Amino acid sequence: MIQTDAPETIPISYLNALEYCPRRFHYEFVQGDMVVNDFVRLYLYSETLRLSGFTDVIESQDGIFIPVEYKHGKQGRWFNDHIQLCAQALCLEERQPGKPPIPYGYIFYFGSRKRVQVHFTPELRAKVLAAIDFAFQIAALAAPPPPLEGKIAVRCRDCSLAPICLPDEVRLLMGGKEDSLANTLPD
Ligand code: SF4
Repeated sequence: MIQTDAPETIPISYLNALEYCPRRFHYEFVQGDMVVNDFVRLYLYSETLRLSGFTDVIESQDGIFIPVEYKHGKQGRWFNDHIQLCAQALCLEERQPGKPPIPYGYIFYFGSRKRVQVHFTPELRAKVLAAIDFAFQIAALAAPPPPLEGKIAVRCRDCSLAPICLPDEVRLLMGGKEDSLANTLPD
């Protein structure tokens, strides 16, 4: 695939899109077909991870900063919200050297009015690091990767970018050919 220059940093909120679908990430980040976000947010940055972005709220609990995200819908079946929240925690940790790791954060879902606690386990932290690495790979592609295939293609049904992406039509034109990068979401 044709590559472009890698970006300097990956915005944290785009890790959410990447976890959902690399093609969606490419549309939103590289091509700029973004959904408008109306929250006023607090700026976060990590030089080490090359991440930048925002968090809705930072709470202080026993001297530890806890990130809190607000989402419009209900909790989904995918881990994209968890990845985003944990990436915020990694940025916060870098700003507080010597302090213990942030153990958890919260996501408040307006749709269900539930505040969900998300533990920043070693597994989730490893997923975030893998997602950042993968984001830089996808961001350097000149064209979006092919649509999702297999079981995860069910995500296309709820994807707001489907009218731009045209996943069914593209799959038909591709004749079932798969692209290993597009459908290799980090576990
Ligand atoms: S419609 Fe499917 S393949 Fe296209 S961007 Fe959305 S999730 Fe990805």
